[in-house]
Amino acid sequence: MRAAFLIRNSLFVIAVLTLVGAGVLAQAQAQPPPAAVTAIRAGRLLDPEGGRLLTNQIILVEGTRIREVGPNVAIPAGAQVIDLSKMTVMPGLVEAHNHLALTYKPVPENNVYYYTYVQESTALRAIQAASNGIQMLASGFTIVRDMGNNALYADTALRQAIDQGWIPGPTIINSGIIIGGMGGQFFPTPEMVTDHNIVYPEYLDADTPDEIVKAIRQNILFGAKVIKICVDCKPYGYTADEIRLVIREAAKSGMKVEGHVQTVNGAKNAIEAGIWSIAHSGGLNDEMHKLMAQKGIWRAGTDTPPGLAGHPVSAQAYQRTIDSLKNAYQNKVPLTFSTDADYWVEGRTRGELVIDFIRTWIDAGIPNADTLRAMTINGYKVSETDQTRGPIKAGFFADMIAVPGDPLQDLNALRNVQFVMKDGTVFKKDGVMTPAAFFHGGPVNGWRIR
Ligand SMILES: [Zn+2]
Repeated sequence: MRAAFLIRNSLFVIAVLTLVGAGVLAQAQAQPPPAAVTAIRAGRLLDPEGGRLLTNQIILVEGTRIREVGPNVAIPAGAQVIDLSKMTVMPGLVEAHNHLALTYKPVPENNVYYYTYVQESTALRAIQAASNGIQMLASGFTIVRDMGNNALYADTALRQAIDQGWIPGPTIINSGIIIGGMGGQFFPTPEMVTDHNIVYPEYLDADTPDEIVKAIRQNILFGAKVIKICVDCKPYGYTADEIRLVIREAAKSGMKVEGHVQTVNGAKNAIEAGIWSIAHSGGLNDEMHKLMAQKGIWRAGTDTPPGLAGHPVSAQAYQRTIDSLKNAYQNKVPLTFSTDADYWVEGRTRGELVIDFIRTWIDAGIPNADTLRAMTINGYKVSETDQTRGPIKAGFFADMIAVPGDPLQDLNALRNVQFVMKDGTVFKKDGVMTPAAFFHGGPVNGWRIR
């Protein structure tokens, strides 16, 4: 029995070795072509960390990564040269709070997002998300944190479609479905809640410790990369202990937790529990900002400027927004650029809408260098991409943009992104999208990306 097994086993081993050998030979015969090299001549190169411009730099890109950066880099023979000598080249921008698969509109929803859930399928919203992602990339946003309200995991589908290589788009850090106490941010009718229909599954009801654990696991199973909770959307919001449970369970899968916070008490609980990031500024006063700074908790303030058609912000409300952002800055709270943009303003792309939020930062008197840090370095950190993606440094993924003018002098330069490279491939050049190289008839980067 044992001998027979050994013989069979060695025959099997020989067969496997023969197959492997044939594979090695086939590989040796068909070497993949060397990755294409692109050389970018940058007239000015923005270093957001140092808040300075370097002049006449050359960036070598090989395949998907940056190979070398410097003033005296030799351009290899045969490299494709891109001339941005009249531009400011800079790392890609990060939007730390968007909802790409939600776009409510003046008609038919009267800008009430509750109705979008009733009117539009997950499938339609996923296709809208693909379009919104492309619009964001065209405005220079190479990373977007997509923080829920995306129907039945349209956000995961978007991330997979981009990562697998079907369509262009930013790097997506998505949250799946928002987890909260019964009802989430809604006030659904009793019929909706008991039958769990119509506006579900926009929120995962998680009222007990068991339900909280299960909701987090469901989101992770279905592709979330960050966990989003409603801290205080209802009077029975989460306690600090319940938030600690969320953080512990998310951490088991290596994920951080963002809290939607709208009250001071909610902020207190979230900060005490040590949450990763807080969305919205409604619950953040001077005391909360000081605690956030002490603990290094990210602020995703979603600081909306006035004058967006259909989204009135009163003079008083805007003053509060500005004062809060200013106070956070003075207290040295780690700041991210975030908008909560989940609606259509006619005549604007999603990217143009988002970039318009720089007005709030300008009006709050935040120095341009620090706003640029919030939009880049802090964005990479809050999205936890900072080890692989963001800075224009050797070894990092080649994501970068270019604008005429100098955003350190005038942030409005960011409104005019002329060039976008994502993963080493040109997406936009001379102000025109040229995305052909991003479209594939199959999952060229692998179907196992989940
Ligand atoms: Zn939001």
